[in-house]
Amino acid sequence: MAKRVAQRVEPMATDTTKDYTVVIGLEVHVQLLTKTKVFCGCVNLFNPENPNVQTCPVCLGMPGVLPVMNREAFRLALKTALALNCRIARFTKWDRKQYYYPDLPKNYQISQYDLPFSHDGWLEVASDEEFSEKRRIGIIRVHLEEDAGKNLHDETGRGTDSRVDLNRAGTPLLEIVSKPDIRSPAEARRYLEELKLLLTYLGVSDCNMQEGSLRCDANINLHLQEGDETIATPIVEVKNLNSFRAVELALQYEVGRQLDEFRSTGHRLGDVPKQTRGWDEKREITFGQRGKEEASDYRYFPDPDLVPVTVSDKLLEEIRGELCELPAARRERFRQQYGLSQYDASVIIDQGRRFADYFERVAQECEDGKQAANWVTQDVLREMNQRKVDIDKFPISADDLAFLLKKISARELTTKSARDVFAELLAGADSGTPPSAGRIDQIINERGLALVSDAGQLEGVITAVIARNEKAANDFRNGKQAAIGRLIGEVMREVKGADPKLVRQMLIEKIVGSEEA
Ligand SMILES: [Zn+2]
Repeated sequence: MAKRVAQRVEPMATDTTKDYTVVIGLEVHVQLLTKTKVFCGCVNLFNPENPNVQTCPVCLGMPGVLPVMNREAFRLALKTALALNCRIARFTKWDRKQYYYPDLPKNYQISQYDLPFSHDGWLEVASDEEFSEKRRIGIIRVHLEEDAGKNLHDETGRGTDSRVDLNRAGTPLLEIVSKPDIRSPAEARRYLEELKLLLTYLGVSDCNMQEGSLRCDANINLHLQEGDETIATPIVEVKNLNSFRAVELALQYEVGRQLDEFRSTGHRLGDVPKQTRGWDEKREITFGQRGKEEASDYRYFPDPDLVPVTVSDKLLEEIRGELCELPAARRERFRQQYGLSQYDASVIIDQGRRFADYFERVAQECEDGKQAANWVTQDVLREMNQRKVDIDKFPISADDLAFLLKKISARELTTKSARDVFAELLAGADSGTPPSAGRIDQIINERGLALVSDAGQLEGVITAVIARNEKAANDFRNGKQAAIGRLIGEVMREVKGADPKLVRQMLIEKIVGSEEA
C-alpha cells in the first residue's frame, strides 16, 4: 500500500510566493527478466557474491566479437510498450552511445537513439491519495538498451582498490521516459508505484530496487508566475534515487532549493548548463555533481554489428494476445463486478497480482464482494503486515476464508464470532494446526459460536422469558423501548449463539401481538 510521506515545509524557501508550478519528468530504467543477456548468451542473474562469472567475450567487449539480439528481450520490451499505450515503430535500429567508464569495457553502450522501438504512450495515475480521479501522464518513449557493469568502491576509507563487476554488463534494460507532465513530488511517487505495479503484473521485471532492477532519475524545474510572465528555472536532474520515498523527498527538497536559488541568482532556464545532482539519504539534501552531457557529447551512430529490427503485424498481434488484464482495467472491473469503492479496489490491486487473485477467489467463493473486500483489506492485510509475509505465505487459504465468510452470509455466525474463529485459525497455524474447513467447524462447535437462527428453537425460551418478566414486557408495551434489552439478554443467556436480531424481532412480535389478542 502507498506509504505517505509527510509534506514538509520547503526547507530553504525565503520567499512566501506560492505562485509556481512544479514540472517533473521521470526517466526509469528497468532490467528485464530474461534468462540471458540482451546481446550474448550469458545468464542474466543478480549475483554480487560471485563477480565476473557471468561474462563472455561479447559482454567483456573483446575485439572481433559480434552481438546477437535476444528475441525474448525484444518481446518483453514490446509487451511493456503496448501496456503503456505506446505507438510501436515498425522499423527500429541500434546505436552506439560513446563514453568512457571502467564498468563499460567496449567504451560504448548499445542503445537506441533517433529511432526507438516505441513512442507516445501514457500511464494513468491516481490524482491524489484517495484515488478520487485519474491523471494521464504522457510517455515520450520506451527504448531498449544494455546495462553497464558495476564499479565497487571501497568505502572504508583505507584506500583499498576499486573493483569492477561485469556480471551486470549486457543485461537488457528498458528506458521509460515520461513527459514533464508530473506536477508534484507525491504524484511522481504515485507514477512510479503504478509503473512498478504494471511491470510486475506483466512479469517483465521484478522491479527490485535494492538489487537495482528498477532505477529512477528525475528531472525537475519550476514555472514561476510573475505578473503576466511565466519564468522557467533551470532544469536539474536528480540521480541515484534508490527508493520511491527518496524520489519524493529529493523532489520536495528541490522545489525549495530552486525557489531559493532563483531568488538569489535570478537564473532562468538556458542561463546555466543543465545540472546533475545527487541525493544524500542521511542529510536529506541534494548536492551538485557535474554539468550534464548533451546528446552530441555521446557521438551516437548506428551500430554496424547489429541489423535493424522490423516489427510485423503478426508479431504485434501475438504479443497483444499475451497481455494479461492490466491493473487499471482490473481496478475498474473490481469496482463494477464486486461493487467496491474506488479506494478498496485500489488497495487490493496495489498489493500486487497475487493478492488481487486471492481477493477474487474469496469474493467468488463466498459470493459477497463487499464482505470479501472488507476482510481482505482489513483483517488479512493487517495480519500479513504483522507477520511480514506476502499473500502466498498467509496461513489461511482463500477457500477457507470464503468458507468462513459464507457462514456470516448464511446467518450461521455473527461477524464478531467469525473474527474469533479467524484469530483462532491463525493461532492454530502458528502452533502447527493448519487451517481447514473442518478446523473452522470444530472451533465453532467447541466454542459454541454457532448462531441459532431457527425460530422454532427459540420459541419456547422466548415465551418463558416473557412470562417470567411481566413488568418488563408491560413497560415495553407502554413505550419504554429500553425494557426490551433486558429480555433479549435473558434469552441470549439461555440459548448461546442465538441470533440477536431474530430474538429482538420475535420478542416484539410476541409482546405486541399478545396485547392485540
Ligand atoms: Zn556475455
